[in-house]
Amino acid sequence: MILSIRQIGTTVLGQSIDCWDFNQINPQEKILIVGGVHGDEEEGIQIANALIRNLVQNPGVNSYAIIPCLNKDGETLSLRSNYNDVDLNRNLPTKNWIPTFTNPRYKPGPSAASEPETIAFLNVLISFRPTMIISLHSFSESLILYNPGNRKFDESVSLLSQSLSLKLVDKMPYEVLGSLNTYSKENAIPTLTIEAPRDQTWPLKKYLFIQSLTQFITGL
Ligand SMILES: [Zn+2]
Repeated sequence: MILSIRQIGTTVLGQSIDCWDFNQINPQEKILIVGGVHGDEEEGIQIANALIRNLVQNPGVNSYAIIPCLNKDGETLSLRSNYNDVDLNRNLPTKNWIPTFTNPRYKPGPSAASEPETIAFLNVLISFRPTMIISLHSFSESLILYNPGNRKFDESVSLLSQSLSLKLVDKMPYEVLGSLNTYSKENAIPTLTIEAPRDQTWPLKKYLFIQSLTQFITGL
């Protein structure tokens, strides 16, 4: 296993966006993990950093590209969106992307992939060609949003949702334009969007999330 860290882009305010690459010569799976798409969802950033720590000790047979925090300006300033006030999970170049919005919390940006953070993520996605993507968020209602892609991972994902006691859903009750889940459906890439609990239970549940996800990604 070869471990390297590289800068994949620069935020609006000039911060380095970094990716940790765990490369196996003949990987079983290639897993892309991203945290901090929404900068104020620190639970996902904590999980991503813990997964890096665990993989350094025991990398297993898969290759990983891990971006612990995509929206670093948002993390620094406790913002959901990036410094241009664009929601990075509405800015991906999906077929249904439109520049209009009704809720100012979910601004899609002036054009699809207009933001430097989105471009950095897409560059990794296109060059790494993952067989699975995991995006780590947090929300008051915790759940796993699963786009099964080729259905190869259905059983493992079901076990993960059971071990974390998380509801497993395959779509949101509303259409999400420009989101990772929509993008990965269009491109048939199995993708998990994990909403960790964003409440006072998190310090107690954090260890279980880190342990279960470490087992999940090294066991695929
Ligand atoms: Zn989020």
